[in-house]
Amino acid sequence: MPLGGRNVIAIDAIASNFENVPQAEIDRILSRWMHIETVYPKHLPVISVIGVMLILVTYLLVFRYAISTRTKQLSKVNRELKYLSETDALTGLWNRRFFLGKLNSFKESNCNLTVMIIDIDDFKAINDTYGHLKGDVVIKAVAEKIVALTDSSHIVARIGGEEFALAFIGQPVDFSRSLAQKVCKSVNEIQLAEVDCKSITVSLGCVIYQKAHAFETLYEADKLMYAAKKQGKTKRS
Ligand code: GH3
Ligand code: MG
Ligand code: MG
Repeated sequence: MPLGGRNVIAIDAIASNFENVPQAEIDRILSRWMHIETVYPKHLPVISVIGVMLILVTYLLVFRYAISTRTKQLSKVNRELKYLSETDALTGLWNRRFFLGKLNSFKESNCNLTVMIIDIDDFKAINDTYGHLKGDVVIKAVAEKIVALTDSSHIVARIGGEEFALAFIGQPVDFSRSLAQKVCKSVNEIQLAEVDCKSITVSLGCVIYQKAHAFETLYEADKLMYAAKKQGKTKRS
């Protein structure tokens, strides 16, 4: 429909008066004719729940994996710490603490118990002559000789600087005597390029308890070792 001059004027008048209507009134009028609604996808709740569950399951799996990895690492560290706390770093033998603990556990058996203490003779002189590092080589060589004569049923330990101990249960007296002699002989045969001494000798004290529970301390074996040392040194001098 063509617009006449009067209609243009009317539209202008309406437009200019429209500016005078307050915004609140405009909003009120518009809201009567307009309905605004947010429409969400139909499956959104289900998808959201599945999404959240997937995230939770993934988190739990990652968490479980992290815990099991950490547990494995801790067990490994614990095993290493236990090993370090029970062994002697220089020789790899058991240490004094482990040895005494093992002797106490032997006490529960009803068998006889053999305890030997083996001390390198005049070791200080070896250290003084060849130096501490060469002294270490001698300690290791003696340890190897003792280990070579024993098996897993024997407990072999380094219980002091140049002192070793050996214990086992359930063997006849002859076996213990023979083993003690073999240890002394075998150490005596050590030949080391690093240490040019005539021979390395040890003094050995051996106690056989008829019943393992009779064992109290290393005192008796120690006493016999010192008696042997005194005798040996007298013989050598
Ligand atoms: P004896 O015949 O009476 O047993 O005399 P010894 O010289 O063997 O014994 P002593 O107790 O007088 O000396 C032991 C020496 O062992 C003293 C110490 O410095 C040394 N020693 C202790 N631990 C170690 C070690 O790990 N390495 C070395 N190289 N020497 C050590
Ligand atoms: Mg000694
Ligand atoms: Mg000693």
